Amino acid sequence: MLCIRCGATAEKGYTTDVTELGDGVVIIRNVPCYKCQECNEVIYTADVVQKLERIVEMAKKVMQEVSIIDYTKVA
Ligand SMILES: [Zn+2]
Repeated sequence: MLCIRCGATAEKGYTTDVTELGDGVVIIRNVPCYKCQECNEVIYTADVVQKLERIVEMAKKVMQEVSIIDYTKVA
């Protein structure tokens, strides 16, 4: 996978995704991604983007000020 920003090689790894929702924030840990070795850009596959959207929708329904979700447990 190549970085969409600088074109360098992006390696497989894990990241923490943070989504601001106005009255709260959803933190999703252990999200599989590709991370650029040069500029630290994080790239998600289409599959992961879809799952993240679903997790955020879920979190909205039980909205707390801060929701911390482990991706590996809900995906
Ligand atoms: Zn890059």
